[in-house]
Amino acid sequence: MSPAGERRIVVVGAGMAAARLVEGLVARGLGPQVTVLGKEHHAPYNRILLSAVLEGTHDAGALTLRDPAWFAEHGVDLRLGVRVVEVDRGRRVVRTVDDTGAEAEVAFGRLVLATGLIPKLPPIRGVVDRKGHLHPKVHAFRTMADCRDLLAVLPDARRAVVVGGGLLGLQVARALAGRGLACEVVEGSEHLMSRQLSAPGGQALARDLRRLGTSVYTGSRAVRLTDEGLVLDNGFTLSTDLVILTAGGRPAMALARDAGLTVRRGVVVDSPSPRSTTPRSTRSATVPSSSTPRVWRGPPASSHRPGSRRACWPRSSPGRSAPTAARAASPGSAPPTSTWPCSASRRR
Ligand SMILES: Cc1cc2nc3c(=O)[nH]c(=O)nc-3n(C[C@H](O)[C@H](O)[C@H](O)COP(=O)(O)OP(=O)(O)OC[C@H]3O[C@@H](n4cnc5c(N)ncnc54)[C@H](O)[C@@H]3O)c2cc1C
Repeated sequence: MSPAGERRIVVVGAGMAAARLVEGLVARGLGPQVTVLGKEHHAPYNRILLSAVLEGTHDAGALTLRDPAWFAEHGVDLRLGVRVVEVDRGRRVVRTVDDTGAEAEVAFGRLVLATGLIPKLPPIRGVVDRKGHLHPKVHAFRTMADCRDLLAVLPDARRAVVVGGGLLGLQVARALAGRGLACEVVEGSEHLMSRQLSAPGGQALARDLRRLGTSVYTGSRAVRLTDEGLVLDNGFTLSTDLVILTAGGRPAMALARDAGLTVRRGVVVDSPSPRSTTPRSTRSATVPSSSTPRVWRGPPASSHRPGSRRACWPRSSPGRSAPTAARAASPGSAPPTSTWPCSASRRR
């Protein structure tokens, strides 16, 4: 490998953790050694505020954390619309594919996996067709593209069902109600926000939402999407123009797994400034397995800016190991959902 390749720090993913990490690298004068590969077409943005864009209180542009000009100014090689499809640890290269299908390789000395989550696809018959495309009424809500797709169809929609009564689902329901849609929330647990709230708290929240005009169905699961609407396991059928899936996510681990790293519920790491089980790749924002003694249990997820604590270059040893740390495993059991299939995309 060339000396330039040996020094290159390749960051896979251009999300919130990646942005924070690159800020730290730039502050240490390492910008020109950094390549960031992100499959979204948007420069890193504050994903947490996506629902504010949906609600109409923020412009999409206001969410940008660092624009492409900032990366260029600091010598960082930012490549958007580029998906990393393989990590070849032996040759120390990643293989990429862009939207045109063009393939390329990027050599790395250090590799950071900052690939975030992929949405879970609840087991609802009819939301994905045989070719893996989402039903036209069905939307995910995780990326700027998802948000734009949803905004584009709102003028023709009057009713929406949000599947998932967690924080994200309620944000979406509130945003849609604010836009004048009749909104219903379906939650499999016995009460809303079951990871954050006690049963009385969740029930009080449901009462408030109902008072504001949003129907709430707890303890019931959506099982089928038909021409009549979304069928619940309690026998109800909710007639709707839109179904928004907000049933949580799981760490995007395929790259790490295929590269031979040890993964369980996340990539297994070795300390609060972890490396994965290979010395030259590190992982940002993973959910460590609870069954291994080698994982570090980081701070609980909260409403801080993701990556602000987790993805920071250790001050005590700049340049020693790539910047990253692990996120605590989420408490509570996950709903019976499957991973969003890569191919389950909206036809564009
Ligand atoms: C609407 C909404 C509200 C939220 N609210 C909160 C909140 O209040 N508090 C909170 O703590 N968290 C919240 N979250 C979660 C928070 O956004 C995530 O925890 C955070 O974005 C994680 O940062 P990340 O950089 O690890 O991953 P992400 O921001 O998901 O970024 C990962 C990036 O990697 C890219 N990527 C993945 N695989 C590849 C590949 N193979 N090649 C190239 N690129 C790839 C993805 O496209 C993505 O852009 C919210 C999320 C959403 C969607």
